[in-house]
Amino acid sequence: MPYKDIPCPLQSGENAELLLDYASRKLTAVQRMAIDQHIAGCPACQRFRDGQELLWKSLDTWESSNFKPGFDMRLEERIAADSRLPTWERAVLWAQNTPLKPAIPVAAAILLVALGLGLRWLWQ
Ligand SMILES: [Zn+2]
Repeated sequence: MPYKDIPCPLQSGENAELLLDYASRKLTAVQRMAIDQHIAGCPACQRFRDGQELLWKSLDTWESSNFKPGFDMRLEERIAADSRLPTWERAVLWAQNTPLKPAIPVAAAILLVALGLGLRWLWQ
């Protein structure tokens, strides 16, 4: 079945993925042309396409404005520098950056149990 003969994806609920693929530019040229023909005569699909295009343009703008040039290169350099550190230094960095507060009650409970077992062993 030619794509131009498909029922409206929005009204029929079928082939909705075609509209999403159309908006994300994943369709072949033939598929895209067929959807273009349908959209030209369907106000509901025109509104959907306009909304999707606005969304994609916003995402393109967002991606390009949040990262400074060279961000990826600096990140890779930092990861490489950290991986060159000795193991003990990486352990210290991990401990500094890991919140240990939730572990304090667990450590206290383990210490009390160990103390109790130690005292019991001494009295026997
Ligand atoms: Zn339609």
